[in-house]
Amino acid sequence: MSELDTLYRELILDHSKHPQHFGLAEAEGAHATSHQKNPVCGDEITLRARVDTDGETIRDVTWEGSGCSISQASASMLSELVEGQTRTEAATLIEGFREALRSRGQIELDEDVYGDAAALTGVSKFSARVKCAMLAWVALEDALARA
Ligand code: ZN
Repeated sequence: MSELDTLYRELILDHSKHPQHFGLAEAEGAHATSHQKNPVCGDEITLRARVDTDGETIRDVTWEGSGCSISQASASMLSELVEGQTRTEAATLIEGFREALRSRGQIELDEDVYGDAAALTGVSKFSARVKCAMLAWVALEDALARA
């Protein structure tokens, strides 16, 4: 295992043990909540996105859930990443993430763009785990479409 793999594995464990933005924020202002399940692994995520009064900027993303460390770490990393981004920026991030995760290890996530979530890049080599990593991102996409 390379040093980078070890670092990434530690980041995933750290986020799953100390999840960021865990606990749903008050349902006020422009917001939407999405509940997503991955029955294959038993992961569940309930994610709430709140949008600023400008209608464009993501005020915050909070979530609750249970399941494997990849699914929970991914939700934690995502909620940190998209706070303060615009809807358009978030949509671009989600699209790029999906593309990389489905690339079977061909496309790597850029750490400058994805921050801690770049640690999930290796998951794309394990097709059974891609849904775990995607779960929160699908929930955010769904929530933003309705917020
Ligand atoms: Zn899972």
